[in-house]
Order: sequence, then structure tokens, then C-alpha cells
Amino acid sequence: MIDASLVSMASKTKQRQALKILNDTFGYPEFRAMQDEVVYTMLDSRDAFVLMPTGGGKSLCYQIPSMMRDGIGIVVSPLISLMKDQVDALTRCGVNAAYYNSSLKSAEAKEVLARFEAGELEMLYVAPERLLTKAFLKRLEQVKIALFAIDEAHCVSQWGHDFRPEYVRLGELRKIFPKVPMLALTATADEQTREDIAKCLGLGRARRFISSFDRPNIRYLIAEKRQPLTQILHFLSDWKDSSGIIYCLSRKRVEDLAVNLQRQGVRAAAYHAGMPARVREKVQDDFLRDQVQVIVATIAFGMGVDKPNVRFVIHHDLPKSIEGYYQETGRAGRDGIDSEALMLYGSGDVNLVRRLIDNVENPRQRQVEIHKLNSMISLSEGLTCRRKVLLGYFGEHLEENCGNCDVCLDPPETFDGTKLARLVLQCCNDLEGAYTAGYVVDILRGNTHSRIKARGHHELSSFGKGKEINGDEWTSIIRQLVHQGYFTQDVNKKSTMCATEKAEELRKKNAVTLAKYQPMVRRKLKRFNRDRDDHLFQKLVDMRDKLAEDEDVAPHVLISDVALSEMSKMHDVKTVSALAKISGMGKYKLDAYGEQFTRVLHEHAEQKANEEVLSEDGAPVLLAKGPPANDAQHFTWILYKGGASVVDIAQQQNIEEQSVMKHLIALVRAAHHIDVPGLIGSAFDSLMIELNDADPYASLSEVKRDLSVDLTNEQFRLILAWREALGIS
Ligand code: ADP
Ligand code: ZN
Repeated sequence: MIDASLVSMASKTKQRQALKILNDTFGYPEFRAMQDEVVYTMLDSRDAFVLMPTGGGKSLCYQIPSMMRDGIGIVVSPLISLMKDQVDALTRCGVNAAYYNSSLKSAEAKEVLARFEAGELEMLYVAPERLLTKAFLKRLEQVKIALFAIDEAHCVSQWGHDFRPEYVRLGELRKIFPKVPMLALTATADEQTREDIAKCLGLGRARRFISSFDRPNIRYLIAEKRQPLTQILHFLSDWKDSSGIIYCLSRKRVEDLAVNLQRQGVRAAAYHAGMPARVREKVQDDFLRDQVQVIVATIAFGMGVDKPNVRFVIHHDLPKSIEGYYQETGRAGRDGIDSEALMLYGSGDVNLVRRLIDNVENPRQRQVEIHKLNSMISLSEGLTCRRKVLLGYFGEHLEENCGNCDVCLDPPETFDGTKLARLVLQCCNDLEGAYTAGYVVDILRGNTHSRIKARGHHELSSFGKGKEINGDEWTSIIRQLVHQGYFTQDVNKKSTMCATEKAEELRKKNAVTLAKYQPMVRRKLKRFNRDRDDHLFQKLVDMRDKLAEDEDVAPHVLISDVALSEMSKMHDVKTVSALAKISGMGKYKLDAYGEQFTRVLHEHAEQKANEEVLSEDGAPVLLAKGPPANDAQHFTWILYKGGASVVDIAQQQNIEEQSVMKHLIALVRAAHHIDVPGLIGSAFDSLMIELNDADPYASLSEVKRDLSVDLTNEQFRLILAWREALGIS
């Protein structure tokens, strides 16, 4: 929401100039929602506060005005690895940018400072602790500053998930440089944190830009946790070679799962805070460079990972809160390409978290934790669109069901559960609210373990009344009833099940709708529909990876998956300029890499043209299995491709026409493209009809004899081979 009273003053000329930079330098055809308004606000020398989800496109909001305004743009960023990637990416767009942090050797640092003082830089990325040294602030006062951009601004807030004490001091900038516009950016969705940021950075008068926090390209899936390893392997089989993160609750689970995945041939690596820093850095770097496919991690892993092509995030265990779930799943699909977030939901995990919460001493904090856990359970067990629940939690209302979560794609079957709910009520009353859900299930199922006997509970009226329903189903039913507010599990009394006031309704009316329990390994969902040529995409990826390795940068820094994916939908490309319309291919990248990618595209198109035969409806059906089998065939193949007739080919090789025909038959069988209809001539179509109608029990010589046209044996066999190759025979 932009407040309308403050429409940008930036002149039309400046607006056009901004668009030109977007097109030429960054290679994007248009601004995304709010980007242009933020840019114009900076051009007007006003402060701005930008709240956009991950992947929304925050970087351009300060990059373009930094380039347009007089002086240098100072970008404060908390993570060293991010700075390097951003600067590498900008350099590859032809922008003069550098970073200044503790990772630089002293000679490198000197060089950066020299460029900075000489006014050669358009942007400088700085770590906050460097920026706020006296010496550096002095230097800053001596140059012209275009703007301050505070990226990941939630780091100023103690409420946030990533508090950094050095960020708090950034408020000083406002006082030292009152005239320089400041831009704070964050993807945090939490109200309290936002207020902290505004207060701490002195952004009370800044224009606020708040975009929707929906991430439509992320598909949310929540499945009952059964055999997590099998479930995960099954999930991974849909995401071969794609990058992903798997979150686990503990270091031990991280290590176990990583080893198990490696044993199954997955390129997985573990990551948690207990590992030496050097090892962690290496794992992260390997992931960014696509050397490792899957990271198995505790939530310690994430902030520093600015990898746009993470295709999936799996929660092996229950996330602690919805905020955490949103943040962690949000690391998938920053580049806007379809991605998936799978959570495995197990009652064991819920109980584990409950026990942890029981140990929290401060009652107020315990309350908060319980609330967070309950919200998480609601999301997981709900029957409503996951996205609706998720966004609703952050106060955002989604009008329609999203159509891209497991509930929308495969709605659970529901049934009238009133009778069952009454049984549970009866049982809870029999037990006087003093026993856990597990015990209630035992009674309903009529289990006779010694404790039940000892207490005489096998004589209760509800004992064994729910025999025909299995334990898992009962557990699911009870959970849903708790979730719907008919029962509570009192944390202060060891999670015993009690009926609530609402349960009174059960006596009067049929009120309870329950979802049918379905044990899920993975529901069968429609796969994403990609209209790209995967084979070609892989060739493009290989080319990019090679170039990136030569330049020693992360592959996605060089060219994005989005760009490669768009390229792989193109048909034959002969000139570099044809690539200009690819998203993210600015002038600089076209010059630097256009030729290599054009070559890949062109070669692929040629190869396909050579090796494909078109079926009657024009669909490609054949792909040669390999080169011609021997030299003689190969020679025939080359002459044939050069346009020579059968007679010509025979003469040039000094062999019989019959032999040439035999070569052609072999080539057709190996799925090389031979224009058989052209070789046979005008009778071809009627011959095909006759062959279709031929008596299926007749021998081939009888079929040939009955044809209306006289064919040589070779011609006949050529047609048969062709039909067979096309799957017609
Ligand atoms: P954020 O910092 O908000 O997470 P980024 O600035 O990293 O997001 O942008 C996310 C992705 O979207 C990047 O790959 C970026 O190049 C791309 N992008 C940003 N703006 C545009 C645009 N106007 N058109 C097309 N792609 C864009
Ligand atoms: Zn949905």
C-alpha cells in the first residue's frame, strides 16, 4: 500500500532514464510492483521503508537510484558472502561496485578505498561494523553519498529472528548525514519488528511500501510423517539435480539424515552450528556453486544463503512457529520459478515440542510458546487452503483458495464425525478428564494393558466402543476435535484431555465435520507443467557452469536459471541479439556470454533438425540412437544429407543402388531422418492406406504382391522400416 498523497515528484525524464537502466543494464523489460515507486522516492531524496517478501526484487530498489543519483550508494549488508555475490553480479551487468569488509586482504582493501575516494564506484557494500568506525565515517564525510540502503533491516530488532547488535548503531547515520536519503529493506512479516526498525533507524517519516507477502510460486505441502527417509527419497526423485534444503530439529537428526541420503546416492551435506566454521563455510559455498545438491541443516542455516534457485525446502521436523516456517520455506524459489515446500508432520514431534515448552520457567513465555505451537498445529491439521492460513496469520486476507497447496490440489474427503465426537466425549467424561489422548484411544479401542485393568477402566461404558477404527485414525480424529475446540489438552496437567464448553453442542446437534484420515506417503499431485526442453536446459546449465568456473563465481551470479529456462524455450537462434529479450540478459552479459549461449542453442537446433522425423501431425517422434553403424552407411548418410539422389550416391561410391537402399533402411532403423515418402514418390500415400488395410495374417510377400504398385524388395523394406520406426506397424 502506497499512501496516495505522496505521489512521486521524479520527473518524466528521470523515470524514463530509470527504465532504460532497467532494460539495458539489468536486462528486464519492466519494473515489478512497487520497485518503480521506491526508485522514484529515492530520486526525490526521500526516505523509504520497503517490506517485500524474499524474491520480491528489493535489490533493484537501491541499485538503480545509486546509479542515477550523484555520488556513491552505500549499502549495508550483514553477510559477507552475500556482498560478494551481489558485487559479482553487478560487475557482470557492467556496474562499478565493490565491497568492503573483513574478508578482504589489506592490499585489496586499499584498492577498494582508492577507487572509492577517486569517485569510481557507483555502489559500495559495507559491513556495519566497518562502516561505523570513526575512520570510515570520516572518509564518508569527504565524498558525495547518493543514498544509504540498509538491507536485512530486521537485524536491528531484538524481536526479530536475527538480531545483530552492530545494526542498532546504524541509527547514528541519520544524525550524521541528515540530508542523505535512507532506504531500509526487509522481508520480515512481523509487525513488532517493523516498528522497531522504523524507530531505531529514524524512519518515522519514510514512505512505506508494503507488498503482499504471498509467494505464489511456492507450493505448500504438508504430509503425515510416516517413514521420513522413504518419503524424502520419493520427494527427491521429482527434483533430480535441483537444489534444496532439509531442516531438522537437532544436530543428531541432521547428521543421521545426511548420512542416510548419501548412502542412497544423494549429493547431500550436513550443516549445523556445532560444526567448525571452516567446514560450514565450505558446505555453504559448495551449495551455492551447485556442487552439493541438498543441505541437511538445523535452522542455523539460512540467512546467509542468497541462492535464487533453491527449488525445494523440506521440514523433516515440526518448525517452532509459523514465522519460522514462513521464513524457512521462503528460501525456496527466490527467482520466481515453481518450487515446493514439504513439511512432514508427526505427532511425536508435537509431543517433543510440548515437553520442551513444559520446561520453560517463565509463565508468560510459556504461554507465547504454546500459542505458537498451537498455530503451527492448526496450520498442519487444518482442512483449509494452507496459503490462506499462512497469510491469515500475518493479517493478510486471501480472497480465493490458492490452488497451489496440497489441500487445494487434493482436498481431503470429509464426513460427519458427530457420533465419533460423542464417543470421545463420553470417554473423557468417564475418565474425568484425567488422562492423555493416547489413553483415551486405548480405552476406545478396548486395549487391555495392565494399567487399564489395574484401574478397572475395562469396565467403563465407553471401553471398546470404537474397536472398528484403528489407532492412527483415532489419533487423527482426536487431534481434529482438539483443533476444532471441542477438547483441550491441558499443558499444565501433562496434556490430559478435557472436554470444553463447546463440547456441550455435541449432545444437541450434528455439528462436526472431520477429514477422512489418509496415511500419506506422498499424495499424487499434478506435476508442474514446464514447457521447456529439459535436454537443452541441461546443455545451457553445463555451459553456464563452465563459464562460472572459469570466472570463479557462483553459477547463478553469472546467469540465472530463469534466463536459461527462457532460452531453452527458444527455437533456433542464430544471432546474439535474439537473446536480448531474455530476462536478465543486459547489454554487458550479451557481449560477454551471448556468443557461447547462441552457439549452444544453434547446435541443439541443428542436431534436432537432423535427427527428428516428423510424424503426420507434425510432432517430432524420432531421435537417432547414435551415428551410422559403419563407414559405408556413414558415407551414404553424408551424401544423402547433402541432397544427392540414390542413383548419385551409388555412382559416387561406385556401388549398386540396391546397396545404397540397404544403407538407407539401416539408417531409418537407427532413427536417422530419411525422407521416405519423398524417396517413394507420389504413390506413397495410397501405399500407406493399402498397408493399413492389409490382412494381418498374410505373409509379407503376399502383402507386397497384393499392392497396387510394383515395389522393389528394398523399397518395400524401406517403407516397412519407416513405419516401424514411427510405431505404425
Ligand atoms: P529480494 O532481495 O527481494 O529477495 P532480489 O532483489 O534478489 O529479491 O530479486 C529476486 C530475483 O528477481 C532476482 O533474480 C532478480 O534479478 C529478479 N528481479 C528483480 N526485479 C526484477 C524485474 N523487474 N524483472 C524481472 N526480474 C526481476
Ligand atoms: Zn491452497
